[in-house]
Amino acid sequence: MSAKAKPARFTLEFPGDPVAKEALKQKLNAYKEEMSAKVHKPVNHYEALDSLLDFWFEQNSTQHQTGYVSYHEVASDVNEELFVTTNSSAVRLSQICTAHSRHCTAPLNEKKLVKKGHVAVITLQCSNKHAYNWSSSPYLQNKKFLVNTKIVHGLTVSGLLPVQYQRFCLGANFGYIGLKNRKNLLTNYSACVDHVYEISVDCALMEESAATTNPEVGITVMSDARHSWRKNAKDTSVVVIGDKSHKVLRHQVVTKNDDPVTQRHEKLGTVKILNEFEEKSITIDIWIHDRNVSINKELSARDIMNQNDLWHGIKGLKKALQKIAAGPKKHHGKTWHNELFDKVTSVANHAHYAARNSNGDPALLQQMLLNTVQHYKSNHDQCQTISRCKTDPNFELSKKLITDSSAESLLSKTIQSSTLYKSAKDFSYGKDSHYVESYNNVLNIFTDKRIAFSSEEYELRVRLATLHWNENVDRGFTSEWQAPSAANRRSKIKKIYKKLSYDYHNEIWECFLMTINRA
Ligand SMILES: [Zn+2]
Ligand SMILES: [Zn+2]
Repeated sequence: MSAKAKPARFTLEFPGDPVAKEALKQKLNAYKEEMSAKVHKPVNHYEALDSLLDFWFEQNSTQHQTGYVSYHEVASDVNEELFVTTNSSAVRLSQICTAHSRHCTAPLNEKKLVKKGHVAVITLQCSNKHAYNWSSSPYLQNKKFLVNTKIVHGLTVSGLLPVQYQRFCLGANFGYIGLKNRKNLLTNYSACVDHVYEISVDCALMEESAATTNPEVGITVMSDARHSWRKNAKDTSVVVIGDKSHKVLRHQVVTKNDDPVTQRHEKLGTVKILNEFEEKSITIDIWIHDRNVSINKELSARDIMNQNDLWHGIKGLKKALQKIAAGPKKHHGKTWHNELFDKVTSVANHAHYAARNSNGDPALLQQMLLNTVQHYKSNHDQCQTISRCKTDPNFELSKKLITDSSAESLLSKTIQSSTLYKSAKDFSYGKDSHYVESYNNVLNIFTDKRIAFSSEEYELRVRLATLHWNENVDRGFTSEWQAPSAANRRSKIKKIYKKLSYDYHNEIWECFLMTINRA
């Protein structure tokens, strides 16, 4: 048996004579006695003085902003209940305590805590049985908690998946709102998203029309279709983006209820949008999209100029050029030629230049594409007057000269059999639809392709993605698309990140509060 260790002690020294010492001791002892009775255990000098000083600081903490602040020190129960509260609820709690202390000195203690979603409803009671109910959130006019409603709103506009929300709540343990209650809290919410969305796309349409140089000719738009999940897509959405504003002008969701055959969805969605534009007397000059023959037909029937995405056209040409630039030795001169080994990028770059400069003239585009062969044979008769081969008297070919007729014929055949050449009329304005691809990246944040959303939920998420895009396009994440180079769209990425804004969050919230107040 070891002897019990003597507890550590320290001594404080005060100035003063024995009379002062006696008076102080008397006061301190009286205080210790009262305190011991309250806490039902003996209290020593240290505990008495320490509690007195704490009390003083708590009473005076507002005058000591930079000094002692009355926060809790280290939490003793790190797994205690967490909940969300509001400013006004915190004030309300202090009012309850003040009101109680006016007629009763016993402290109010927590008697019961009930969690409702992220809200705590706490019953406070003193030893004299005075009881109060306090909730950490005020009610909205529909008798639902502000805190819970706002959190489900935040969850929805963030695009977070329900399962991510659940895991987040479980991890932090600050309450959770189940699916049924979430739906209940946001009754009529999607109508508000629709409302804000309609305003956004209508404004974008006005902006696009205003930015058009010749209103009589009409606006130029680009479209793309996207399937909601990878296999057996249930829903397809067609998005139309303005060539000048880069904003989404329309986004049409097509479901299997509209047409059981997914392959027909893009056409169906496009036709719906075309009809809507017609109803609104919006004239379309050029419509850019990935090559889809049925849409090409639909557009020409409506007398709208059809253009296909140039980048896809050039990508196809590049692939074919790679095949004639290298190969097995035994096929040299037949399927490939070593005079063409260095021509892939340069021919593709030239094709890009040609499409951008043929001003809608398909014959000119074809001529410029084919002239590449002559240029590499050092025959510059048909080259552009501004080309270096024409302007620089000391010009020398930087690529291997084509001398062999089989190399010449391989290159010209490859160019002539490319979609870019054969369908030159669909590329002669040199239009790119890369903004729709960029938009699809944003859509992926809201509609994860691995998840099968219900049609309603998918549409809601599409609208939120559109609101996010229209508010932030050309602001941050799309700036990397601003300078696509000829050969590879991603090769000259300029990343200029600006702060994103989320005004649409507030617009939806305000709209929703109005529907509650009207009800
Ligand atoms: Zn009381
Ligand atoms: Zn030339």
